[in-house]
Amino acid sequence: MTGRCAVWESRPGGARRPPVSCPAVSEFQTSPGMRDVLAPESERWRRFVDVFASVVEPAGYGLVIPPMMEDAAVFTRVGEATDVVSKEMYAFTDLGGRTVALRPEQTASVCRAFVQHRPTTPWKAWYAGPNFRYEKPQRGRYRQFDQVGVEVLGVDDPYLDVEVIALGWRFYEALGLRQVTLLLNSLGEPADRARYVDALRAHFGADRDALTAESRQTLERNPLRVLDSKRDADAALIATAPQLADFLGKEAAVHFDVLRSGLDALGIPFRDEPRLVRGLDYYLRTTFEFAGETLDSAQNALGGGGRYDGLVEALGGPATPGVGFALGLDRTLLACDDEGVFGAPERSVDVFVVDTTGGAEALAITEHVRRSGRSADRAYDGRSMKAQMKAANRSGAAVAVIVGDDELAAGTAVVRPLRGDGEQIVVTRPDLLNHLEAVLS
Ligand code: AMP
Repeated sequence: MTGRCAVWESRPGGARRPPVSCPAVSEFQTSPGMRDVLAPESERWRRFVDVFASVVEPAGYGLVIPPMMEDAAVFTRVGEATDVVSKEMYAFTDLGGRTVALRPEQTASVCRAFVQHRPTTPWKAWYAGPNFRYEKPQRGRYRQFDQVGVEVLGVDDPYLDVEVIALGWRFYEALGLRQVTLLLNSLGEPADRARYVDALRAHFGADRDALTAESRQTLERNPLRVLDSKRDADAALIATAPQLADFLGKEAAVHFDVLRSGLDALGIPFRDEPRLVRGLDYYLRTTFEFAGETLDSAQNALGGGGRYDGLVEALGGPATPGVGFALGLDRTLLACDDEGVFGAPERSVDVFVVDTTGGAEALAITEHVRRSGRSADRAYDGRSMKAQMKAANRSGAAVAVIVGDDELAAGTAVVRPLRGDGEQIVVTRPDLLNHLEAVLS
């Protein structure tokens, strides 16, 4: 199949239509792991972001829109030890010879923006948009995927951690999701964590051969990340690994206690998850994940976040504490599907205009109705009454406004309810808007 439409059919009036035999599969398809999102699903995506904004903006968070492409060093500087940066990043040399990367995540970009613009602290920012990772595409895992998130820079207060986690929780509530579990851990202070990493290295190192080859490699680069392995063969050694809680110093333990009591005070349930870690060296103290209980356990992370220090510094700014999270749109919507909440909206308009006099009346009436604040659609191409009424019914409109030759001559229009059992009536054109308003409200 070539996918090319060789000859287009000419129609009266110069309109052209693809031939009926036009092959369904086109020559060009989206790249693996990348998707077109069409309405009404795209409408759901936009509402997802709207709901997120409606939760975080009243808490003082302002939208930040970093570019999708940055100097690749923004990401390598802070994430070299992670797969996301070392193996999955779309990095390339641009025509000016710069090494750039499509962002694999947005925390580093937000920190870079902070260093560049130095907004006053606390800087409370939220973001939404696509990231890029060269991963093996599968359900809930794509090469271009969207996240929403928040980052707060400049505050070291555990109550801010509570606020940030609560925003994530309230967002899931606003979507209508119920089967979400908040998993919580503390990575301790850098010194606690360093002792823990040593203990992990010793634990896994003593029984190296019992690990999978992938985990042996991870062990070299980042022993913490071995705990992330979902491979069955690693499970036994992970189960007996030392726990971070036993390595927490006093400062981190107090921070963690305040965090937990704050969540209790807000009525947000959580589960301690001693093996929950994040790979970057910059993460410390609070770390958390939202797990979707309806999803397959290997892919059930809806989102996660935590506290980090040193990220801003690594990008050339002053030492600045930070905390934030990123929530994946795709998996969250899969969880919504599983729970039957936050579905794709039904698309419909208020009014559908049927005009069998040539189309100019429909042009005038739709314009009028739209300017009055109501939505309106119409049929095109001078189609028959039957075809236009079919389109009207398909549109989901509440009423049809019909203009034929008689109505045009009399300066009237027929208003026909398309749902319910209301009667159709004939109204004069100057009365049309008032009448529609009465029918629709
Ligand atoms: P991360 O930035 O890796 O902490 O991921 C945060 C969230 O983004 C995850 O919990 C997922 O919901 C989502 N996510 C990460 N990578 C992908 C991907 N390749 N495809 C779809 N969603 C993703």
